[in-house]
Amino acid sequence: YQRHLMELHRMEALGRMAAGVAHDFRGIVSIALGFTELIRRVPNLAPQADHYAQRVIDALQRGQTLTQEIMSFGKDDPVSPRVLDVGAALSKCSHMFRVLLGAGIRLRVRSSGPVSRVFMDASQFERMMLNLVLNARDAMPSGGDLDIDYEDAIVGDEDDERATYVAIYVRDSGAGMDEMTRLNAFKPFFTTKGDRGTGLGLVIVDQIVARAGGRVKIDSEVGRGTTLQIYLPRIAGAVR
Ligand code: ADP
Repeated sequence: YQRHLMELHRMEALGRMAAGVAHDFRGIVSIALGFTELIRRVPNLAPQADHYAQRVIDALQRGQTLTQEIMSFGKDDPVSPRVLDVGAALSKCSHMFRVLLGAGIRLRVRSSGPVSRVFMDASQFERMMLNLVLNARDAMPSGGDLDIDYEDAIVGDEDDERATYVAIYVRDSGAGMDEMTRLNAFKPFFTTKGDRGTGLGLVIVDQIVARAGGRVKIDSEVGRGTTLQIYLPRIAGAVR
């Protein structure tokens, strides 16, 4: 666990450095975007030139998204943890998730019994879930099932002490991860999505969960799908 924390601190330092670079880079990207928009407004612009300008804009917009991701990754958001009802927090975001997932992916959110509360920042919780849902969506380009199950769970930790958690299982029926991807998934900037990925989604998830005193596991099989298992320390008093 200690080693894991040290690793996270190293990643945080790396993230902070990247955030500095990203900040300068975003300025450059914005200037390029502005002038490319101006090129498109040149009178009697050849259609081909307009087409190329649009391609430049598309690429720059991807660059803008990437730099924003990197910047928010390095930034120390003020975190205000509070008592959180996982079920209520999930149903609050599930409408947004359905919109993001579109018609091809069926989302189910459910618990199998009484669930304890956790102690964490509500917007960090949402950010964590959003990253997991977006990854699931990317893994199911031609549709599928996304199940979010949550329940109280007892997990033996590394010192073999019994610790109690609220477990959240985010299970998709998507492409799955091969061994190499699974081993590298939590490394900053590791992505299999080329230009479309930042390789920061799971790093952010890992960081948020670690801050809350929890842990993350991946269970995945190529061609079958992936389950991200989130364990958050629970506090006394189950809901319902
Ligand atoms: P990004 O999504 O930008 O690539 P992440 O850190 O969120 O960055 O994910 C890293 C990599 O882990 C992804 O590129 C993908 O290969 C793999 N991955 C993450 N979630 C899933 C999933 N639900 N199914 C399959 N592969 C996944």
